[in-house]
Amino acid sequence: MTDLPRKSTLRPERVEELLKKCGAYQEGHFELRSGRHSGGYVEKFRLLERPEIASELCRAMADAFRDAGVERVVGPALGGVIIAYEVARVLGVPCAFAERVGEKLEFRRGFQFRPGERVLVVEDIVTTGGSAREVVEAARQAGADPIGAAVLVNRSGKPLDLGTSAIALLQLDIASYPPAECPHCRKGIPSHAPGSKGTHKTT
Ligand SMILES: [Zn+2]
Repeated sequence: MTDLPRKSTLRPERVEELLKKCGAYQEGHFELRSGRHSGGYVEKFRLLERPEIASELCRAMADAFRDAGVERVVGPALGGVIIAYEVARVLGVPCAFAERVGEKLEFRRGFQFRPGERVLVVEDIVTTGGSAREVVEAARQAGADPIGAAVLVNRSGKPLDLGTSAIALLQLDIASYPPAECPHCRKGIPSHAPGSKGTHKTT
């Protein structure tokens, strides 16, 4: 077992291609819930509903940590349950998930860790990094040793800071703008809410 820096074996271009293929990463002109506009949008459930695509990405996450002596793979509910299960399946180890209880992410359902158990934390899309970082902390609290973290997409616009050595298969920097400054509006491209098929003009 080694603690070398980890690297994805899957090219970022391939990751982006797979995310576009299943509709998880859409390009266009979007009105986000925050009121801001963007030229791209990520909806992780379009990926999680496609096992054949998700499993290729999970395999790359597992491969990056194959010789790291991982004893268990853990992730945050909801998306992280699926990712943790699949990465654990590839590595041939158990999995577990943390779920939100009030403000906190906790391991419930009788999940127990051996003291110092080598745990890999996984997450689908990191927007702020909050959930993944909380799982790292929850694993530590439960007596495990979070030896690393692997995420599918880091779209936080910053390097990952998860409290352990972390890799992302894809770094996605999607700019967003107040409508008045939106370059897509200026070009007169119709905008729509993410996930909706219909388009409508914004003024
Ligand atoms: Zn716009």
